[in-house]
Amino acid sequence: MNEYDSNRIYDLMANIGFNKTNTKDEADCFLLNTCHIREKATEKVYHEIGRLKKSFKNSKKPLVIVSGCVAQAESEEMIKREPYIDMVIGSQSYHKIPDLVLNYERKKTKVSETDFDVIKKFDVLEKILTSQNKISSYLTIQEGCDKFCNFCVVPYTRGPEYSRPFRQIIDEAHILVSKGSKEITLLGQNVNAYNFYENKKNYRLSSLIRELNSIKNLERIRYTTSHPKDMSDDLIDCYKNCEKLMPFLHLPVQSGSDRILKSMNRKHNIKYYLDIIEKLRIINKNIKFSSDFIIGYPDESEEDYQDTIDLVKKVGFINSYSFIFSPRPGTPAANKKMNDLKISKKRLKNLQNILENFQFKSNKIYLDEFCEVLVENKLSGQNKFFGRTRFMTPVIFVSDKCKNGDIINVKINSFNQNNLFGFHKINNNEKAA
Ligand code: SF4
Repeated sequence: MNEYDSNRIYDLMANIGFNKTNTKDEADCFLLNTCHIREKATEKVYHEIGRLKKSFKNSKKPLVIVSGCVAQAESEEMIKREPYIDMVIGSQSYHKIPDLVLNYERKKTKVSETDFDVIKKFDVLEKILTSQNKISSYLTIQEGCDKFCNFCVVPYTRGPEYSRPFRQIIDEAHILVSKGSKEITLLGQNVNAYNFYENKKNYRLSSLIRELNSIKNLERIRYTTSHPKDMSDDLIDCYKNCEKLMPFLHLPVQSGSDRILKSMNRKHNIKYYLDIIEKLRIINKNIKFSSDFIIGYPDESEEDYQDTIDLVKKVGFINSYSFIFSPRPGTPAANKKMNDLKISKKRLKNLQNILENFQFKSNKIYLDEFCEVLVENKLSGQNKFFGRTRFMTPVIFVSDKCKNGDIINVKINSFNQNNLFGFHKINNNEKAA
């Protein structure tokens, strides 16, 4: 989502005459769009500002803005701690950046703006043309979260769940497609909680997918990140008859133990999770899954950990993210007693080996086969292209004739854990995997 936000912030800044530069020393303004999910996110921002201060030691100080979730969480404390920062702007207030910058240029008064003004934000953004012209684009449809998992900062930094108006999203999708996008990933912290009412009609994520499915020239639809609790039947049904919806779902589970899920306040148990997987597999036998795992959550026992391993083996996730629990200040889990770090590290390593094995096996299936790839870009300085399979796996390949945005069949001749490698010839007529 930060990538989407950064693009929109750029569009707003371009409106008042700022352009991107790749030459750091030339910059009149630095804007750090921050994420609070990562460990020690706040400290990393201060280190970055420290580096900036050093490189501008002998020249005119640039305007320094910190935006995003760290700004939201820390607010004016940031300016007090590091006076080199001029503005702190929260993730739901960034539409105000142009006015705040112009105002700062006149008055030189430090600014801290962290209101949850999400409705206004999207109303303003609707009027600013997007500069995104990528083959694969992001489109935010929903922000915030009402679930309050005990380990997570999102409900505090992004605020309550908010769904953008249905028409506004569809209009933005049409603009992206007219600028060349072939794939759209719908974004939200709880994307499948999307819920918008207008004229007595209720629009859900399934309504958006069905509408996008009918857009000519759009080839692929994805969405992230989903909560198991919101995998409703109407959404599951989309995998039956929306041919542009890719058969790959990132569905975070966090733990395979019901006891730990309860302690995390996840609002689902393992039976419920596995039932969703089963329903999806019945509707579309090709669907594949990835997930997120937290290892070493407070009070995780060996038995809880083994439940996670059992779940991983049962589902066979093809690509997942796994981390050792680290407390986020202000969240309920931050006050709990930490597990033994040595044990957690050992457990994480073992889990990651199993996950990597599944990923490796899933890539091996493609060896000497053709697979359908959406071409995203040519690699700079090489006669190679980059694209992705229907399951998001990166493919690097040689081609005698293809262009960005094409959907082609690539013959795979090698692979590693993360990537597939192959070649494409214009007469590849074989059926893709
Ligand atoms: S559902 Fe996701 S975003 Fe919401 S609190 Fe839980 S982990 Fe955070």
